[in-house]
Amino acid sequence: MTGTIFDIQRMSLHDGPGIRTTVFFKGCSMHCFWCHNPESLLPEPEIQFFVDRCILCGRCQEVCDRHCHRIDPDSRTHDFHRAPCTKCGKCALNCPSGSLVRTGESITPEELAGIVLRDRAFFMHSGGGVTVSGGEPLLQPAFVHRFFTILQEQRIHTAIETALNVPWESLSTVLPVTDLILADIKHPDPEMHKAATGVSNELILQNFRILEQSGLPYVIRVPVIPGVNDSEAVMHMLNTRISGILHPLYLELMPYHEYGLKKYDSLSREHAALDALHPPTRESLIRLAACFDTVKVLFRDGSRTVTLSGGI
Ligand code: SF4
Ligand code: SF4
Repeated sequence: MTGTIFDIQRMSLHDGPGIRTTVFFKGCSMHCFWCHNPESLLPEPEIQFFVDRCILCGRCQEVCDRHCHRIDPDSRTHDFHRAPCTKCGKCALNCPSGSLVRTGESITPEELAGIVLRDRAFFMHSGGGVTVSGGEPLLQPAFVHRFFTILQEQRIHTAIETALNVPWESLSTVLPVTDLILADIKHPDPEMHKAATGVSNELILQNFRILEQSGLPYVIRVPVIPGVNDSEAVMHMLNTRISGILHPLYLELMPYHEYGLKKYDSLSREHAALDALHPPTRESLIRLAACFDTVKVLFRDGSRTVTLSGGI
């Protein structure tokens, strides 16, 4: 059995308790226009080209059988022609500057466990563990089940970051070997949710209700996206939908950030819709947090965590 992942981040502090290693899975069942991990959307490998890192050494041009790279030393330009590219990764392997990156690698659960367990001492000392994220890790449920089984045998805490837009069977496959779920709600209204993400929220809310019945601890995460859900009206609607029905450990507001923009360029994907988008202010997050009266709400302010219990 193999899975497809695109990144492993060590020493993560915001993906569950303690110090964690977060593994990012490739492929997603939603298409949120603000996604900060655009390299996660497609399930297959892709080539990222960070043009500002290129030192025009010409190695990629030499090794590519498909003639995808054209370097002009006179004009000091490098054109990457994607159409003939087979994503073999040879150019990325030979690129000395990290300008070319093949994103999406196959790995077995045993190999992945071997890698993350190198940080076992940090997990044990801090009460941390391993989180799977994406993309949508629950599009590869059998892999996650096997991976987490190995980790739990080693007494490592396991967590999943998910959008819950998956068949319930996928979630139920992994629940027995999962310690914590971090699940998103992007918008409480089904039509607005569909306009922003490409899918309705009905399956997601249904999965939340079943998750609630399972008794597993979970956190609700709400990405705060200007123009999509950053109004008190939307947050009041969300508060109404969860009050008395869902009992998360807490609800986290996650402000939109601009770190993903360069990745769109690296994949030759347009991001016009993001150009006018800016992170919400601390004041607006406090205002939005006050809309919730039955759950503990928090957001991160730099390295600080701001907690607002049951509104202000
Ligand atoms: S991934 Fe392979 S085919 Fe594509 S540009 Fe690089 S070397 Fe050429
Ligand atoms: S191998 Fe990397 S640094 Fe060299 S020309 Fe190609 S992209 Fe630029």
